[in-house]
Amino acid sequence: MLKKLILPILILTSSAYAGISEVKFYKNDQYKSKIKIYVFSEKRYYDSSEIVPKLGGKTYWYSVSGKMIIQLKSHKISVEKKSDIVKYDDEETVEISNCIIIRGGKVFLAEDIFLNPAFSKTMGFRLEFSESDKALKMYEKINISSIRYFSYKDKTRVVIYLYEPLEYSVSRQDGGKFIISLIGGSYPAAGENISIDDGIVKSVSVSQEGKSAKAVFDLGENFSDAQIFTLNNPDRIVADFLVSKEPLKNRIGDLPAITPDIKPAVSDSSTVSAVLPDKISPEKKTKRKIFIDPGHGGKDPGGNRIFGMKEKEINLDIALKLYDMLSKRPEFEAVITRKTDIFIPLNERSEMANKSSADLFISIHANASRNRKESGFEIYFLSEKASDPWSAEVADYENSVVSLEDDSKIYDSAALVLHSLAKNEYINEGSLLASYVAKNFEKKTPFKNRGIKQAAFYVLRGTYAPGILVETGFMTNSADQKNMNDSKIRKKVAEAIYQGVLEYADKKGWTR
Ligand SMILES: [Zn+2]
Repeated sequence: MLKKLILPILILTSSAYAGISEVKFYKNDQYKSKIKIYVFSEKRYYDSSEIVPKLGGKTYWYSVSGKMIIQLKSHKISVEKKSDIVKYDDEETVEISNCIIIRGGKVFLAEDIFLNPAFSKTMGFRLEFSESDKALKMYEKINISSIRYFSYKDKTRVVIYLYEPLEYSVSRQDGGKFIISLIGGSYPAAGENISIDDGIVKSVSVSQEGKSAKAVFDLGENFSDAQIFTLNNPDRIVADFLVSKEPLKNRIGDLPAITPDIKPAVSDSSTVSAVLPDKISPEKKTKRKIFIDPGHGGKDPGGNRIFGMKEKEINLDIALKLYDMLSKRPEFEAVITRKTDIFIPLNERSEMANKSSADLFISIHANASRNRKESGFEIYFLSEKASDPWSAEVADYENSVVSLEDDSKIYDSAALVLHSLAKNEYINEGSLLASYVAKNFEKKTPFKNRGIKQAAFYVLRGTYAPGILVETGFMTNSADQKNMNDSKIRKKVAEAIYQGVLEYADKKGWTR
């Protein structure tokens, strides 16, 4: 009896809405239930008491102020009847007119609240309305974490950071557009447009198309070619957009006649040398800057020794030998943080490298341990986390010099975060360099290989270049210390690092 009475009332209430339709609600491509869509003034709304529980959240309604807080796990969205501003986690705000409508004692929320990029960015999952399926789809899994770019003289590197490896396809479109489709990719900020405007790449925009995320690169006038590859730890897709070579008309091979004062602008050496064998100056290439950092110095002697040379002296001698070797190579410019026994704070060392835009950073040290039996060399590359407790201890020890510094200028946390974002890119490069150096160290020196390790060294952390830290041997082990006191062996150490750099450079195509 009661049911019969209620039913007509419900229908009456419903008919007061401008339009209601029912669509399917999917969670991660699985059908879950139906959900109602209400249309008021040609805009789509959901009933807050229906949609929010489906998303796994709760609502708090403040009737006096006309405000609703939508709590989704640890995130919240606040919407107000009086305001068109929707706030996401107090971080992002989006203007949505008439975001709330109250009818028949119910609070209706504009669809835009859930479909805009700020929602997925802050909430960690995204919603999509599929017109063809007539369905509201929720994707819980976000597997693309962020997109960053790095502008260099010769290229623009765009890195798509992933939470898991994703397959991708690459295509090119007319009008200077380049597209990477990430299959199964889900990006929290779909719709985002990242402006780069460095002449090579104008911008990157990311959109979500069904099960794929699409990154569309709008290319600039200097673009010539792209190289796309994947790296791991963290998983990422790297897109290098290379700068175009000199325009054709400037190439010597294309000139109608050759006059003596022509300087070839390009490296088309086979053509050039055939025509002008004696007049050609060597092709001009940008030299790669190798930054060498002998650890410690001045009032900071470095690790405790049992006899012989101090750590700062061993480091400096190896560094100077390496400096001489690298300086002889035409493709490198060697730079050294200190040539004498002076104290340089750690942050200044990395600042020096950054200011002169180093391509590689090599810090040279010697190890120490309470256990005199510990011996051998270790090559470290930068990582946020140490690979084992010992590595953490070595890093802590080398970092302890920070407290010795006159002007203990520690980076503030915001700067550190920025650094850690930028240098993420260099971790893999550092590990590659470390492996080449370790291989040669093992071959050329008497020191036992203790392996390649990861640790968060202060001096590497502040550097915007792939970097390694070499711990030659143990100051606290008599055999190691004896070897380090020997100038011929220190030369072998320098040679091992040098050879490692050469192999790395070769791999990177720097020597070509
Ligand atoms: Zn040291």
